[in-house]
Amino acid sequence: MRQIKTFSDSRLDTQCAYCGEFPDTRDHVPSKILLEKPFPENLPVVPSCLRCNNGFSLDEEYFACLIECLIFGTTDLEKLSRESIVKILKRKSKLKTRLDNAFTTENGESFFKIESDRIENVILKLAYGHVKFENSARQYDKPEHIGFVPIESLSEEEQNSFFEITELQKSPEIGSRAMQNLYITQDGTPIDNWITVQEGIYQYSVTPTIGNLKVRILIWNYLACEVVW
Ligand SMILES: [Zn+2]
Repeated sequence: MRQIKTFSDSRLDTQCAYCGEFPDTRDHVPSKILLEKPFPENLPVVPSCLRCNNGFSLDEEYFACLIECLIFGTTDLEKLSRESIVKILKRKSKLKTRLDNAFTTENGESFFKIESDRIENVILKLAYGHVKFENSARQYDKPEHIGFVPIESLSEEEQNSFFEITELQKSPEIGSRAMQNLYITQDGTPIDNWITVQEGIYQYSVTPTIGNLKVRILIWNYLACEVVW
């Protein structure tokens, strides 16, 4: 992936990206479970304490498996695509059962009962990690807003706004429409301030806004996530 910043400032290593405690380890953001092999070189890495490094694994596993099941609209292992996810679900029967039970059909329409708190936990972890990596400092406060939605459920306008650097509108010196359009290609593909970790699989953007900060993440071209402080 394109490296934006080297990770060279040793002061960054004194705090866990997620909880602020002393970091014993380093953690990939995003974690590999959200990516596909072969993994990109130079994956972003942040300092992390051991507790946080291990503490999110179960939720991340759930999150990655859920996304795969949502994309294919089923928990049928035969119909899923990602081998790594199928492997996990074969090995972890409790998780498989949990997802099976969450998949319901009503009036001929299928839907998943998702565990929002676990999803938010993972999205927040990812956002903390991206902020730490991009901005060096951790965002300590609780976010004002954590949102996630399938990108396809957004209108064209909403999708454009998701990819756009809308915050810059607030800034008079760089607020022109033309300036913002520089950041978006004709088909709305995010470029420039969006960082592609793996094409079509994981993209994110950390945008400072006036008085706050916004992290946007697009996972598997499916789940659009946003965290605002
Ligand atoms: Zn920690």
